[in-house]
This record gives sequence, C-alpha cells and structure tokens, in this order.
Amino acid sequence: VDYSEEKGWHNARIEPYGPISLDPAAAVFHYGQEIFEGLKAYKNAEGTVGLFRPEANAERLRRSAERLMMADLPVDIFVDACRELVDVEAEWIPTGPGESLYLRPFMIATEAFLGIRPSKTYTFCVIASPAGNYFGGDVRPVKIWVEREYARAGRGGTGAAKCGGNYASSLKPQVLAAQKGCDQVVYLDPLNDNAIEELGGMNVFFVVDGDTLVTPALSGSILEGITRSSILTLAAEKGLAVEERKVTLDEFRELAASGRVSEVFACGTAAVVTPIGALYDGDDVIGDPDAPAGPVTQQIREELLGIQTGAVEDRHGWVTRVR
Ligand code: PMP
Repeated sequence: VDYSEEKGWHNARIEPYGPISLDPAAAVFHYGQEIFEGLKAYKNAEGTVGLFRPEANAERLRRSAERLMMADLPVDIFVDACRELVDVEAEWIPTGPGESLYLRPFMIATEAFLGIRPSKTYTFCVIASPAGNYFGGDVRPVKIWVEREYARAGRGGTGAAKCGGNYASSLKPQVLAAQKGCDQVVYLDPLNDNAIEELGGMNVFFVVDGDTLVTPALSGSILEGITRSSILTLAAEKGLAVEERKVTLDEFRELAASGRVSEVFACGTAAVVTPIGALYDGDDVIGDPDAPAGPVTQQIREELLGIQTGAVEDRHGWVTRVR
C-alpha cells in the first residue's frame, strides 16, 4: 500500500515475493525513516488460522510512525493486509509445536530528496516467512550479557518506537556478547541509575519471592511488548502479584544474592517466553546457566502458547481468525 499527501493510502496489492525498486535518494536510505512490526499466524489442530493481537501491533506501528514523523496507517489497513497475506499463504503455515507463519509488516519513506525533513511519500509492506522455535527446538535457558558500555536507546530518543535504527545500535553489543558466549544482551539506562530496560528483542521479567512477577516499567526507551502486556494479564489472573516498576541493576543483584529471585525470563513474539539461566555482569555470574526453566516461566509459556495455537480457550479475544 502506498501513501502520498494527495491520495492518502492507495494502490493496495499483493505481489509475488521479489526485489522492490527505489530511488537511490529515497529518504529511507539516508535518514532512517523505517519502522516495522512482528507478529505470528498460528494454524491450530482443526486447520483454523488465527493472528495473535494484530490490532495491538497496528497501534504500536501508529505510535512508531508518530515518533518518526511518518504517515499514519489506519488499524484496519494494517490488519486487512496481514489477514489477506496470511490467507494467500495459508498452505505454508507449519503446524509443528511452536511453529507459525511470522509476519513482518514495515513502512519506509520513499520520497527522493536530500535534506533533513520528513518524507512526503511512504510504502507499507508485509512479508511472511514460516517460523520454527526461535532458539531452536527445546526451551533451553539462555545466557545474558549485562551491557554497561553501550545503550540501545536513550532518554528522549526512539527506544519506545520499533524503528530500524534501534536495532542497528544493538548490533555491536550483540556481537560482542556472542564472543563472550552469551545469547543476548540486557540493556541498562545509564542516565537512570542503571535501571534494567530490556533485551535487544525481548522484554524481561523476574519472579521475586516465588509469587511476585516484576518487569521494568515503560520508561520511554523500552519497547512496549505485546507479549509483555499479555503476560501481565495472564499472571494477574493466576493470582500472582504483578509489578511494573523501576528495577536497578544494583537492586536486582541484591535480590538475587539474597535468594529472592527464583526465575528470570524474557518474552517477545519470536521466542514467546524464554527462560534466562544466568546473567553475566563482567566477570560475575548471577544465576545458574544450567538451571531448568522454573514453574512460573513454564506455566506462563504454556498458557500463552496455548491461547496462540488454539489449545487453550481465547478468553480475552486475542486471536483474530483468518480462515
Ligand atoms: N523489545 C524489543 C526491543 C523488541 O524488538 C521486541 C520484539 N518486537 C520486544 C521487546 C517484544 O515485543 P513483542 O512482545 O511485541 O514481540
């Protein structure tokens, strides 16, 4: 779907997958006006296909567009584009455990000019790819590097938007963490007492005292995860106390040292819920890299995946049926 000031959103079409052509001066190549989303379509045992909370992704794309001065895309255009693509690709949706069709909606600035101002034209696209389990098969605990040097996003920046630039900034710390044997990075806010923020592509949760689920409050530089918000709802229903609040690295280290943190997990569309075994803060190892997933992590993962795949009743109306 294309956007111009004169025509608004127009020219909706489904095309065979292939390269697209853009002017070398298109604003997306120079000023980073690019935003995206990620969501999944699951096929259940009866062959019914559903999208998980597509309206929430549509709303987040609108917030990202607002921050990057891009065109506002109505929720129904976003959801219809996803539904129609999934319908066309339905035969390619794998049905193994945890498997899905991953959708990548994105919007780019297409106007050709050199100069720093918002583009006047945009294109919104959705591409799709069959997806397996993010970390390959079983739910193994991951190792997380505590990043004290590089920030993913800063106060007043674009951290709460899902834009390509945030991910470009996290590539170097991610590569360095991998060289140290870690799977992912956890980012801090150095201007806010080293408050724990999130991973490069996932939000983070801690189970404290066995019955309290704690996650960093949205600080303006954390991405508001749709999995995160779903988990907050499910955890409260299960009778867990839920806290969205500032957790500094120092507080987390104290809680962990006194044995009060029983589980840590990360969540996001791609990996759903992934247990975190240990955090590596320089030479200090917090946690046990080989500890199996804890009971709260497992329960929440099963419940959420159950709703997504149609095995558990969708009591919140989170699944939009495609066919
Ligand atoms: N934080 C970041 C930086 C992410 O890229 C993602 C993935 N979209 C998340 C958190 C989790 O968001 P969601 O649950 O909507 O996938």
